[in-house]
This record gives sequence, structure tokens and C-alpha cells, in this order.
Amino acid sequence: MLSRVRQAAKETPHKNLALLIIICNNNPMGNIANDLRSALAQDGKRWTGVRETVLSVLEKSALPISAKDIFKQVRSSGVNLASIYRTTEMLADRGIAMQVESRDGVRRYELSDRYRPHHHHVVCRDCGETRDVSGCGVKGLEERAARSTGFKILAHQLSLTGLCPRCS
Ligand SMILES: [Zn+2]
Ligand SMILES: [Zn+2]
Ligand SMILES: [Zn+2]
Repeated sequence: MLSRVRQAAKETPHKNLALLIIICNNNPMGNIANDLRSALAQDGKRWTGVRETVLSVLEKSALPISAKDIFKQVRSSGVNLASIYRTTEMLADRGIAMQVESRDGVRRYELSDRYRPHHHHVVCRDCGETRDVSGCGVKGLEERAARSTGFKILAHQLSLTGLCPRCS
């Protein structure tokens, strides 16, 4: 299923974006869990409940989220903070989650572009609040950069700094 989604994304990056989001949201968890299981199998590490717990929080979160905030949501399940820290780092190492740039030193995570549509972030200069901004306006810049430098552009990162409604 995921490979079909990836294929569709390659063929028609923009036209089918809405469709892609719907497909992804229908049942992404099984695919992520499978990817993670096979990544862990290569290490000989065991699939444990804490990983599943962290993944399901990341999947439901509308905003990039820190290990501490994940902990607050799942405290009742008895998972400890240290293993949530380890798990978020491991998920980022595996390319399943990604660390979102921040200005307050807090590491916030979200599912990687493999599992959700590519997008960018706006970060509050004063309190560090981080929000998603859907879509991407960087294509033209990539093309100009490729033309003027001869580089083949592989990826980009962009975050906007500003003042959130509370701080402005
Ligand atoms: Zn703020
Ligand atoms: Zn995001
Ligand atoms: Zn972009």
C-alpha cells in the first residue's frame, strides 16, 4: 500500500496531493509499524510497547511535539520519560520521525515526509511555539539554484521565524 502511495507521489507530485493525504490518513500506522519493525529487526532490537505508544502520539499530534509533551499524554500507561526520549531519537535516526528546528532548544518531533505531506514550519522567536505551514513554495528557488550552480538539488529545509499571537 505504501509503495503504491509513494509511486503515485512520484508520478504526480501536486495533482494528487489531496488524494494522497486521504490515502495516508486511512491507514498509515500499519505501514509505519512495519517499516519500524523491519528497521529494528536489522539491529536485533525488540519491538516494544513504548515505540508503538510514541508512534501513535506522533501520528495523532497536529503539531511537532517534544518527548516531555508525549510523556504527559501517555503518563497513565506507565511508560517512563527516559524511554520516550530514547524512542524519539531512535525514530529520527531511522527516518521515521524528524526533529523540527526550534529556537528554544526543545527537540520537537513529527512523522517524517515519508508518512505525511511535505511542509514547512513557522517558529515563534520568543516562546518557541512551532506550527505547521502546509504546502511548499520553494520549487522555483530549487530550479534557480540548480540552473545557476549546476547542482542537482536533493532536499531543502526552511523555517520561518516570527512572533506568535500570544507574543506579538
Ligand atoms: Zn510566542
Ligand atoms: Zn510539521
Ligand atoms: Zn518545501
